[in-house]
Amino acid sequence: MKLILLGAPGAGKGTVAKLLTELDGSVQISTGDILRGAVQAGTELGKKAEAYMKAGDLVPDELIMDIMEKRLQEPDCEKGFLLDGFPRTIPQAEALEKLLDKLGIELDMVVNIDVPRDVILDRLTTRRTCSNPECQAIYNVKSNPPKVEGVCDKCGSPVVQREDETEEAISHRLETYNEKTAPLVGFYEKKGKLLTVSATSSDEVINAIKARLAA
Ligand code: AMP
Repeated sequence: MKLILLGAPGAGKGTVAKLLTELDGSVQISTGDILRGAVQAGTELGKKAEAYMKAGDLVPDELIMDIMEKRLQEPDCEKGFLLDGFPRTIPQAEALEKLLDKLGIELDMVVNIDVPRDVILDRLTTRRTCSNPECQAIYNVKSNPPKVEGVCDKCGSPVVQREDETEEAISHRLETYNEKTAPLVGFYEKKGKLLTVSATSSDEVINAIKARLAA
């Protein structure tokens, strides 16, 4: 399947994407994961992106489109892909349309995961992420802690609070979402591609996606 997952930070895009990969071998493409990997590896891309990310600002569209143009042409995308955290601005969505046209790819659907703000705030302040750039498994200190505190169940690396998950950066990321990313809901609605799911459980979101794909 070829999907875009839209939703505020903490809406559950990453969790839903990981579950969907298990259904048909589609790959999760998270621009946030790619950027965090680049920052940790100290690459040119990482150096350019780091300050924006720490502040909870968006990385410039050109850098993101360079990443995505290459990533979508990798062979593992042939089975399908789940775009998690991309596009995040109208210019990114327009550039993605052109890129998909050029590559002859058609999206199945754009899923908007709609979660109340109080749930989002609670989730983001209690979220913990595996520090290994190859893993980046997601935990929650309340609802889904690692078996051994601070240690990733999957790869054994330290599980940490992301630098952009301080209260200040979180509130800035949510403002950025409302201003720059929320308009994408209307953009994709006009194109008849949008499925909005108001649900806090990832299983409910998965079931709604499966039902729409089967329709
Ligand atoms: P995420 O893990 O999706 O919450 O992304 C973490 C941070 O990476 C964001 O706050 C942005 O600074 C940056 N980022 C990720 N994806 C994008 C994107 N599509 N456009 C611009 N910045 C992005």
